[in-house]
Amino acid sequence: MNAADDKTIVREYFNSTGFDRWKRIYGDGEVNKVQLDIRTGHQQTVDTVIDWLKADNNLSKLSICDAGCGVGSLSIPLAVDGAKVYASDISEKMVEEAKQRALQTLGNAENPTFAVQDLESLSGSYHTVICLDVLIHYPQQKADEMISHLCSLAQSRIILSFAPKTCALTILKKIGSFFPGPSKTTRAYLHRQADVVKILESNGFSIQRQSMTKTRFYFSRILEATRN
Ligand code: SAM
Repeated sequence: MNAADDKTIVREYFNSTGFDRWKRIYGDGEVNKVQLDIRTGHQQTVDTVIDWLKADNNLSKLSICDAGCGVGSLSIPLAVDGAKVYASDISEKMVEEAKQRALQTLGNAENPTFAVQDLESLSGSYHTVICLDVLIHYPQQKADEMISHLCSLAQSRIILSFAPKTCALTILKKIGSFFPGPSKTTRAYLHRQADVVKILESNGFSIQRQSMTKTRFYFSRILEATRN
Protein backbone atom coordinates (compact mmCIF):
# COMPACT_ATOMS: atom_id res chain seq x y z
CA MET A 1 0.00 0.00 0.00
CA ASN A 2 1.39 3.45 -0.82
CA ALA A 3 1.23 6.53 1.36
CA ALA A 4 -1.55 8.12 -0.71
CA ASP A 5 -3.72 5.10 0.08
CA ASP A 6 -2.85 5.45 3.76
CA LYS A 7 -4.03 9.03 3.69
CA THR A 8 -7.29 8.27 1.90
CA ILE A 9 -8.08 5.48 4.34
CA VAL A 10 -7.22 7.66 7.34
CA ARG A 11 -9.38 10.53 6.05
CA GLU A 12 -12.34 8.26 5.41
CA TYR A 13 -11.93 6.56 8.77
CA PHE A 14 -11.89 9.85 10.71
CA ASN A 15 -14.97 11.01 8.81
CA SER A 16 -16.93 7.84 9.68
CA THR A 17 -16.45 5.09 12.32
CA GLY A 18 -13.23 6.65 13.56
CA PHE A 19 -14.96 9.94 14.15
CA ASP A 20 -17.65 8.37 16.34
CA ARG A 21 -15.09 6.32 18.25
CA TRP A 22 -12.48 9.04 18.85
CA LYS A 23 -15.03 11.75 19.56
CA ARG A 24 -16.17 9.60 22.50
CA ILE A 25 -12.63 8.73 23.62
CA TYR A 26 -11.67 12.42 23.49
CA GLY A 27 -14.81 13.38 25.43
CA ASP A 28 -16.11 12.96 28.95
CA GLY A 29 -19.07 10.63 28.42
CA GLU A 30 -19.24 6.96 29.33
CA VAL A 31 -16.79 4.66 27.53
CA ASN A 32 -15.51 1.11 28.01
CA LYS A 33 -12.41 0.30 30.06
CA VAL A 34 -9.97 0.21 27.16
CA GLN A 35 -11.30 3.49 25.80
CA LEU A 36 -11.07 5.03 29.26
CA ASP A 37 -7.44 3.95 29.51
CA ILE A 38 -6.67 5.53 26.12
CA ARG A 39 -8.54 8.69 27.14
CA THR A 40 -6.42 8.92 30.30
CA GLY A 41 -3.17 8.34 28.42
CA HIS A 42 -3.98 10.86 25.73
CA GLN A 43 -4.91 13.47 28.31
CA GLN A 44 -1.52 12.95 29.95
CA THR A 45 0.18 13.64 26.63
CA VAL A 46 -1.87 16.82 26.16
CA ASP A 47 -1.15 17.91 29.75
CA THR A 48 2.59 17.34 29.31
CA VAL A 49 2.68 19.60 26.26
CA ILE A 50 0.62 22.28 28.01
CA ASP A 51 2.92 22.11 31.05
CA TRP A 52 6.00 22.55 28.85
CA LEU A 53 4.50 25.54 27.08
CA LYS A 54 3.26 27.15 30.29
CA ALA A 55 6.63 26.69 31.98
CA ASP A 56 8.15 29.13 29.48
CA ASN A 57 5.73 31.85 30.64
CA ASN A 58 5.19 33.31 27.17
CA LEU A 59 2.13 31.48 25.89
CA SER A 60 0.17 34.64 25.13
CA LYS A 61 2.94 35.76 22.75
CA LEU A 62 3.01 32.55 20.74
CA SER A 63 1.48 31.55 17.42
CA ILE A 64 0.85 27.83 17.44
CA CYS A 65 0.02 25.49 14.59
CA ASP A 66 -1.78 22.37 15.82
CA ALA A 67 -1.49 20.01 12.84
CA GLY A 68 -4.00 17.15 12.95
CA CYS A 69 -5.91 18.85 15.77
CA GLY A 70 -8.65 16.23 16.10
CA VAL A 71 -11.51 17.54 18.24
CA GLY A 72 -9.34 20.33 19.64
CA SER A 73 -8.11 18.60 22.82
CA LEU A 74 -4.90 20.64 22.74
CA SER A 75 -5.92 23.67 20.67
CA ILE A 76 -8.80 24.72 22.91
CA PRO A 77 -6.91 24.79 26.23
CA LEU A 78 -3.98 26.57 24.54
CA ALA A 79 -6.37 29.24 23.26
CA VAL A 80 -7.90 29.49 26.75
CA ASP A 81 -4.39 30.15 28.05
CA GLY A 82 -3.92 32.97 25.56
CA ALA A 83 -1.97 31.48 22.64
CA LYS A 84 -2.96 32.28 19.07
CA VAL A 85 -3.83 28.86 17.68
CA TYR A 86 -4.16 27.73 14.06
CA ALA A 87 -5.75 24.30 14.18
CA SER A 88 -6.30 22.02 11.20
CA ASP A 89 -7.20 18.43 10.47
CA ILE A 90 -7.70 16.25 7.42
CA SER A 91 -11.16 15.20 8.69
CA GLU A 92 -14.00 17.67 8.29
CA LYS A 93 -16.03 15.83 10.94
CA MET A 94 -13.24 16.21 13.52
CA VAL A 95 -12.89 19.91 12.64
CA GLU A 96 -16.65 20.44 12.92
CA GLU A 97 -16.63 18.83 16.37
CA ALA A 98 -13.59 20.89 17.40
CA LYS A 99 -15.33 24.09 16.33
CA GLN A 100 -18.38 23.26 18.41
CA ARG A 101 -16.28 22.43 21.46
CA ALA A 102 -14.32 25.66 21.06
CA LEU A 103 -17.51 27.66 20.84
CA GLN A 104 -18.84 25.98 23.98
CA THR A 105 -15.64 26.54 25.95
CA LEU A 106 -14.53 29.92 24.66
CA GLY A 107 -17.79 31.44 23.48
CA ASN A 108 -16.19 32.87 20.34
CA ALA A 109 -15.19 31.64 16.92
CA GLU A 110 -12.01 33.66 16.41
CA ASN A 111 -9.35 31.74 18.31
CA PRO A 112 -8.51 28.97 17.60
CA THR A 113 -9.08 29.23 13.88
CA PHE A 114 -9.95 25.86 12.37
CA ALA A 115 -9.37 24.55 8.86
CA VAL A 116 -10.00 21.27 7.07
CA GLN A 117 -6.57 20.67 5.58
CA ASP A 118 -4.05 17.87 5.47
CA LEU A 119 -0.83 18.85 7.15
CA GLU A 120 1.20 18.28 3.99
CA SER A 121 -0.54 21.25 2.38
CA LEU A 122 -0.21 23.63 5.33
CA SER A 123 1.72 26.83 4.69
CA GLY A 124 2.66 29.86 6.73
CA SER A 125 4.98 30.39 9.63
CA TYR A 126 4.33 29.75 13.33
CA HIS A 127 6.43 30.12 16.45
CA THR A 128 5.60 26.56 17.47
CA VAL A 129 4.28 23.67 15.39
CA ILE A 130 2.67 20.77 17.26
CA CYS A 131 1.55 17.42 15.89
CA LEU A 132 0.25 14.92 18.44
CA ASP A 133 -0.61 11.28 17.77
CA VAL A 134 -0.88 11.69 14.00
CA LEU A 135 2.32 9.99 12.79
CA ILE A 136 0.98 6.63 14.02
CA HIS A 137 -1.16 6.57 10.87
CA TYR A 138 1.82 6.72 8.48
CA PRO A 139 4.89 4.62 7.62
CA GLN A 140 8.34 6.00 8.39
CA GLN A 141 9.15 7.44 4.96
CA LYS A 142 5.88 9.31 4.80
CA ALA A 143 6.34 10.41 8.43
CA ASP A 144 9.80 11.77 7.50
CA GLU A 145 8.26 13.89 4.75
CA MET A 146 5.54 15.12 7.09
CA ILE A 147 8.04 16.02 9.83
CA SER A 148 10.25 17.88 7.34
CA HIS A 149 7.28 19.85 6.11
CA LEU A 150 6.19 20.71 9.65
CA CYS A 151 9.76 21.85 10.41
CA SER A 152 9.59 24.24 7.46
CA LEU A 153 6.56 25.92 9.08
CA ALA A 154 8.19 26.29 12.51
CA GLN A 155 10.11 29.47 13.31
CA SER A 156 11.42 28.22 16.65
CA ARG A 157 10.03 24.95 17.85
CA ILE A 158 8.32 21.71 16.91
CA ILE A 159 6.61 19.27 19.27
CA LEU A 160 5.75 15.78 18.02
CA SER A 161 4.33 12.65 19.57
CA PHE A 162 4.46 9.15 18.13
CA ALA A 163 4.25 5.52 19.20
CA PRO A 164 7.85 4.38 19.70
CA LYS A 165 9.00 1.12 18.18
CA THR A 166 10.54 -0.08 21.43
CA CYS A 167 7.22 -0.69 23.17
CA ALA A 168 5.62 -4.11 23.25
CA LEU A 169 3.84 -4.99 20.05
CA THR A 170 1.27 -6.86 22.07
CA ILE A 171 -0.09 -3.60 23.43
CA LEU A 172 -0.36 -2.33 19.90
CA LYS A 173 -2.28 -5.38 18.85
CA LYS A 174 -4.71 -4.76 21.67
CA ILE A 175 -5.32 -1.21 20.52
CA GLY A 176 -5.19 -2.29 16.89
CA SER A 177 -8.95 -2.36 16.57
CA PHE A 178 -9.00 1.40 17.14
CA PHE A 179 -7.32 2.03 13.83
CA PRO A 180 -8.59 1.99 10.27
CA GLY A 181 -7.92 -0.48 7.51
CA PRO A 182 -8.75 -4.01 6.46
CA SER A 183 -6.14 -5.62 8.71
CA LYS A 184 -6.68 -3.50 11.77
CA THR A 185 -3.69 -4.73 13.70
CA THR A 186 -1.32 -3.53 10.96
CA ARG A 187 -2.79 -0.07 10.53
CA ALA A 188 -0.86 1.58 13.32
CA TYR A 189 2.75 2.41 12.49
CA LEU A 190 5.45 2.53 15.15
CA HIS A 191 8.44 4.82 14.70
CA ARG A 192 11.98 4.47 15.97
CA GLN A 193 12.94 7.43 18.10
CA ALA A 194 16.38 7.54 16.45
CA ASP A 195 14.72 7.95 13.03
CA VAL A 196 12.51 10.79 14.25
CA VAL A 197 15.44 12.55 15.92
CA LYS A 198 17.54 12.14 12.77
CA ILE A 199 14.96 13.79 10.55
CA LEU A 200 14.47 16.63 13.06
CA GLU A 201 18.24 17.19 13.19
CA SER A 202 18.58 17.10 9.43
CA ASN A 203 16.04 19.95 9.35
CA GLY A 204 18.17 22.01 11.73
CA PHE A 205 16.44 21.21 15.03
CA SER A 206 17.79 19.87 18.34
CA ILE A 207 15.90 17.97 21.01
CA GLN A 208 15.21 20.00 24.16
CA ARG A 209 12.64 18.08 26.21
CA GLN A 210 11.17 14.64 25.95
CA SER A 211 8.60 12.59 27.77
CA MET A 212 6.85 9.25 27.55
CA THR A 213 3.20 8.58 28.26
CA LYS A 214 2.41 4.95 28.97
CA THR A 215 -0.81 3.44 30.20
CA ARG A 216 -2.06 -0.08 29.56
CA PHE A 217 -3.32 0.53 26.05
CA TYR A 218 -1.81 3.88 25.11
CA PHE A 219 1.79 4.86 24.64
CA SER A 220 3.28 7.96 23.15
CA ARG A 221 6.76 9.47 23.05
CA ILE A 222 6.73 13.29 23.06
CA LEU A 223 9.68 15.26 21.69
CA GLU A 224 10.27 18.99 21.75
CA ALA A 225 12.91 20.28 19.34
CA THR A 226 14.06 23.84 18.76
CA ARG A 227 15.69 25.44 15.74
CA ASN A 228 19.50 25.68 16.01
N1 SAM B 1 -3.82 15.59 17.58
C1 SAM B 1 -5.13 15.28 18.11
C2 SAM B 1 -5.05 14.97 19.56
O1 SAM B 1 -3.99 14.55 20.04
O2 SAM B 1 -6.06 15.12 20.26
C3 SAM B 1 -5.82 14.15 17.35
C4 SAM B 1 -5.12 12.80 17.34
S1 SAM B 1 -6.02 11.58 16.40
C5 SAM B 1 -5.37 10.04 16.93
C6 SAM B 1 -5.29 11.72 14.79
C7 SAM B 1 -5.84 12.89 13.99
O3 SAM B 1 -4.97 13.12 12.88
C8 SAM B 1 -7.23 12.67 13.40
O4 SAM B 1 -8.07 13.73 13.76
C9 SAM B 1 -6.98 12.62 11.90
O5 SAM B 1 -8.07 13.09 11.13
C10 SAM B 1 -5.74 13.49 11.77
N2 SAM B 1 -4.92 13.25 10.57
C11 SAM B 1 -4.51 12.06 10.07
N3 SAM B 1 -3.74 12.25 8.99
C12 SAM B 1 -3.65 13.59 8.79
C13 SAM B 1 -2.99 14.40 7.83
N4 SAM B 1 -2.28 13.86 6.84
N5 SAM B 1 -3.12 15.73 7.93
C14 SAM B 1 -3.86 16.28 8.92
N6 SAM B 1 -4.51 15.57 9.85
C15 SAM B 1 -4.41 14.23 9.80
